[in-house]
Amino acid sequence: MSVVGASPAVGLFCVPRSPPSNIPRFRMAVRSSAVSVAPILTKLKHECATPLPLLRHVADAMAADMRAGLAVDGGSDLKMILSYVDSLPTGNEKGLFYALDLGGTNFRVLRVQLGGKEERVIDTEFEQVSIPQELMFGTSEDLFDFIASGLDKFAQKEGEKFYLPPGRKREIGFTFSFPVRQTSIDSGILIKWTKGFAVSGTAGRDVVACLNEAMERQRLDMRVSALVNDTVGTLAGARYWDDDVMVAVILGTGTNACYVERTDTIAKLQGHDSSSGRTIINTEWGAFSNGLPLTVFDSDMDDASINPGEQIFEKTISGMYLGEIVRRVLLKIAEAGAFGDSIPEKLSTPFVLRTPDISAMQQDNSDDLKAVGSILYDITGVESNLSARKIVVEVCDTVVKRGGRLAGAGIVGILQKMEEDSQGLIFGKRTVVAMDGGLYEHYPQYRRYLQDAVTELLGLEISKNVIIEHSKDGSGIGAALLAAANSKYEHDF
Ligand code: ADP
Ligand code: MG
Repeated sequence: MSVVGASPAVGLFCVPRSPPSNIPRFRMAVRSSAVSVAPILTKLKHECATPLPLLRHVADAMAADMRAGLAVDGGSDLKMILSYVDSLPTGNEKGLFYALDLGGTNFRVLRVQLGGKEERVIDTEFEQVSIPQELMFGTSEDLFDFIASGLDKFAQKEGEKFYLPPGRKREIGFTFSFPVRQTSIDSGILIKWTKGFAVSGTAGRDVVACLNEAMERQRLDMRVSALVNDTVGTLAGARYWDDDVMVAVILGTGTNACYVERTDTIAKLQGHDSSSGRTIINTEWGAFSNGLPLTVFDSDMDDASINPGEQIFEKTISGMYLGEIVRRVLLKIAEAGAFGDSIPEKLSTPFVLRTPDISAMQQDNSDDLKAVGSILYDITGVESNLSARKIVVEVCDTVVKRGGRLAGAGIVGILQKMEEDSQGLIFGKRTVVAMDGGLYEHYPQYRRYLQDAVTELLGLEISKNVIIEHSKDGSGIGAALLAAANSKYEHDF
């Protein structure tokens, strides 16, 4: 149904006659002769459209960029970082292992007792600790001391269900989701802090050494055996249960993907031997930018961002940005006069509308779109009638459809690259893509658009072989499994 065609698009967003006191004063007056929103919506939908040829182009460009990034460092937008993970969990892993996940405002600690093929995960426990704001702006030592002391407290609560053979140190898989130049399986140099962290003294240092030193200061006798990116942890965690997992994708606040690569196709690989002939590549695909359908709302948001010109794929498909793109469109509609003669100030506040909000609006199936109306009012101060609400939902859908479909095209690009090098080993048999992240988990429309794009691109037959599967919180166990696989003790499993 075309909402625009069905309703006069004038004065759709009503300002209450006597606004309640909690509605902010209006920021600006606009033309009183309201302009139809129809042309704005039509243009938006046209520019965000992702027809099959466009998706195909994006998938091809992703595959080409992957090759260029594997050929030489700096060869493409995609960094194609070596993970130094050459062997994936087999299911035979046994013993007690820990994992530590630092990637946002929380860190998580986890322990798992692995029982091998038959028993698998005998027991697991985890805790989440929020990081005090001041530590995000403090010194490296303070931050790592805090983490080591959290780990220490957690380790002291280890119960009888967990068992470590005498004479062994507890080993940790360390998931660290900031840009790192990995130098071995258990070392990596922090390139820069992101996501609001501004800790002094870590950039340019080995983050594993930072943690080891803090653990020594705490007299905590543990050892980091594997440093892993969260996508790599997700791949390892999912592979533990399913041998056909070849790719892992995170769609949360940001986005990234990794996959299993043949070492003989990695031209830039020098002096790194892999007995398995395989290694996991962290694509850092958020930096992809080739052939994306972008609008003025995207370029304005990019200009205003802390990293203009960077992470364009991430800015088009990930959770941090979808709500903000929608807000910018709604503001434009308001400025065209559709809100009557003024604009609520809240609507002009960057990032006030978050992706969970637009997701919640899209779940409203009621006839009068009451939830849409109240979310819109609570968050942006806009009062709406039914026609206006329909338009808002349509804007959300347009932006989310583009995001989900482009994410799907990116996944097909990765699979395509793998298939080209292995002839039938990807599309000719069951292949699983492990997905994680709050956006993928909580936004059903996004998930459906992503799957639709994959099916359209691959065709019905081949897409039956490609299973896109949610692997919730697999990255914690995945990191512990990688610690097991890279244990410094004899592998007795
Ligand atoms: P992170 O990516 O920060 O490690 P998550 O994987 O939990 O953490 O993802 C959190 C992100 O997921 C949020 O920033 C938001 O963009 C998105 N998200 C969370 N809840 C929802 C929701 N209900 N609907 C849509 N997106 C959501
Ligand atoms: Mg995460």
